[in-house]
Amino acid sequence: MATTAAPVFFERQYDGTDAYVDGGLGFNSPAKIAYKDVSDRHDLPPKIVISVGTDVGEVVDDMRFMADRFDFKFTRLSVPNTILLEGHCLGDIPLDDWRPKLGGRTTLERLENLTNAYLARAETRRMLEECARELVLLRRQRARTERWETYAMDITYRCCADENCHAGPYLKNRPSMRRHVNEAHGELTREKSPQEVENLLNTCRVAKGGAEGPRSRSGSRRLTRQGTNGVESEYVPIWHSWSHLEKGDAE
Ligand SMILES: [Zn+2]
Repeated sequence: MATTAAPVFFERQYDGTDAYVDGGLGFNSPAKIAYKDVSDRHDLPPKIVISVGTDVGEVVDDMRFMADRFDFKFTRLSVPNTILLEGHCLGDIPLDDWRPKLGGRTTLERLENLTNAYLARAETRRMLEECARELVLLRRQRARTERWETYAMDITYRCCADENCHAGPYLKNRPSMRRHVNEAHGELTREKSPQEVENLLNTCRVAKGGAEGPRSRSGSRRLTRQGTNGVESEYVPIWHSWSHLEKGDAE
């Protein structure tokens, strides 16, 4: 309720002593705030921003400007004020329309019908398909980076370069495992090619949880090249990195 408490139309909402109103006066579209928030959290700006709202207008002009300047894709999905459905369009519905007073069914049905009419348009379907295609492409690119197994697959590392090594029990991710192997087992890695070192790292991968495969004493499962859960099929080693994504390099 607080996020829709538009001044003049609705009363401010309180959480304890804090008052909340709709952000329309300062940030009519919160896309810019969301963009900054995601960038800060991941230390990497998003490549795609999809904004959902009503009508287009100047509300999203600043985001279009930012998308051009910072090279990300911006898509705005909005039911325009001008779609006519049974003689009505979104622009005809007052901001505080709520009929009948109990439940607002008539108003909600009208909004739903207008939204469905918008979604059925060929142009809207094309936009949605394009967004879906790009999101899948990004997902595939991310699955080829070293971060993906840590971020999405709950994989960690346990040193298996030397059975007497007491490092760990777990090394956080592949870069820390590689660093450890080079620093603590340099005599072993000096004789190996880079690919052989990567193969060694593969044998040190451990999935937390998981139902199959031999378990270590801690209950985790060590992954092998013959891993049975499809992990190996997704994994492509180190030379793919996040900088790869920033260049927009696809397959
Ligand atoms: Zn070790």
